[in-house]
Amino acid sequence: MAESTMQKIVSLAKRRGFIFQSSEIYGGLKACYDYGPLGVELKRNIKDAWWRDTVHRREDVVGLDCSIIMHPDVWKASGHLAGFSDPLVDCRNCKERFRADKAPRAEPASKTLYREGGKKDGKKLEGVVGPQGYVCPVCGSGDLSPERQFNLMFRTSLGPVDPMQEILDAVDDIHALDAKARREKLWSIIEQTAVYLRPETAQGMFVNFLNVLNSARMKPPFGIAQCGKSYRNEITTSNLTFRTCEFEQMELEFFVEPGTDEKWYEYWRKTRLDWYTSLGMNPGRLRLRDHDQSELAHYAKACVDIEYFFPFENPQGGGEWGELEGIANRTDYDLKRHAEFTGKELSYFETETKNRYVPYVIEPAAGADRATLAFLCDAYDEEAVDAEKNDVRTVLRFHPRIAPVKVAVFPLVKKDGMPEKAKEVTRELLAEGINSFYDESGAIGRRYRRMDEVGTPWCVTIDTDTLSSGTVTVRERDSMEQSRIPMGGIAQYFRNRLK
Ligand code: ATP
Repeated sequence: MAESTMQKIVSLAKRRGFIFQSSEIYGGLKACYDYGPLGVELKRNIKDAWWRDTVHRREDVVGLDCSIIMHPDVWKASGHLAGFSDPLVDCRNCKERFRADKAPRAEPASKTLYREGGKKDGKKLEGVVGPQGYVCPVCGSGDLSPERQFNLMFRTSLGPVDPMQEILDAVDDIHALDAKARREKLWSIIEQTAVYLRPETAQGMFVNFLNVLNSARMKPPFGIAQCGKSYRNEITTSNLTFRTCEFEQMELEFFVEPGTDEKWYEYWRKTRLDWYTSLGMNPGRLRLRDHDQSELAHYAKACVDIEYFFPFENPQGGGEWGELEGIANRTDYDLKRHAEFTGKELSYFETETKNRYVPYVIEPAAGADRATLAFLCDAYDEEAVDAEKNDVRTVLRFHPRIAPVKVAVFPLVKKDGMPEKAKEVTRELLAEGINSFYDESGAIGRRYRRMDEVGTPWCVTIDTDTLSSGTVTVRERDSMEQSRIPMGGIAQYFRNRLK
């Protein structure tokens, strides 16, 4: 069977060093990935572009880098400890475990057809959709376990005392207790040292609201931005890095005066959507999807997702819309909750108007890994260079700003002083901070194709004319056109093109 686009992207990602399975030589770990030499550059360029456009290019946003482990009460105030859970269901037929809210909908009591064990050659079975109104996403069966709540936060313990010893000491006493009391007893021991890996970066910004207000002398409207790791013990993970348990977020909390929140919400919807297209993402594969009332968190006034049309395989074929970023009007909920739990006054006093208020928050929350995957999928192209000869090239059409390698430098042949000149040019570009790559092996055409496949926008070739006239050939990745430019000032030439 022909490989699907997604399969080709996954194999290119591995072969060329974008994304590897974590701990691969140990058999891998489900839904954990490592970025290879090119992947780390791509992701870093995306995060840098986000930071530059969200923080450095604005007067009204400052950055933060908060600790991943926070005071456990933060998660009580934020609602994560009680409510950060997904309804989890097991399929009794194929044993898949999935999230009820993401399962395919079906009319309760209607007929459903599926195969025994979810296997292609399994016996054909006919079932009935239960009152929950969904079926198993893998086999289509309606024979499902009841929903269970599952906390998505990773718990660990902090402190010099290992709770294990106390649990062992308590074991003798708890035999006599019933199941509920036993659980409570054990929890009372674990809770003393329990801390959590943050499931989002946002809370670090809320709890530092006063610190930033006072130290950076900001006044609303202003934002605090943060880029960093978050952790969620996701039930279903899939599609390479789309949904993983450890991922990086790029979040902005923008504090505004109540009453101006709707205007700012509109502003950030547009600004964030435009950001993806400014980095070359195909606007036809992007959309804004407004949450309807039933989807909105109880405290949110409005929320919209920026979605990308990924080439994921699904039973219907032809790709799938997936969230890249959520933009929410979170009202004054978070600051008020933290004020309530800490007794601190988390508000802003406007001296001119003598007006004190708790700011509303507009939150554009993006994922760095999902953005990286989307840019990778979006860049992927197969171009028929010569249809008659069946000559097809694979090219990643990255915007130069995010391309992992900006310039490849080749000597035409490995003699006549060409390698030395090419190495000199490579060093000059690297010294300018332009990520460049020297390659002398194989025919020149093959070298161009290798760089097309990793999305390098420009290739520079040193040939006999370079030695006589001091010029080099620049070959464009997308048009494959070539032109000659002087070798002197080559770093400045590419600096200008990268602007
Ligand atoms: P989803 O509905 O897909 O679970 P979410 O609405 O829970 O996502 P948010 O809490 O709004 O996501 O997080 C903001 C962004 O962080 C998401 O838009 C996504 O880009 C990223 N993100 C969230 N969860 C994951 C994950 N498990 N793996 C990778 N990225 C994630």
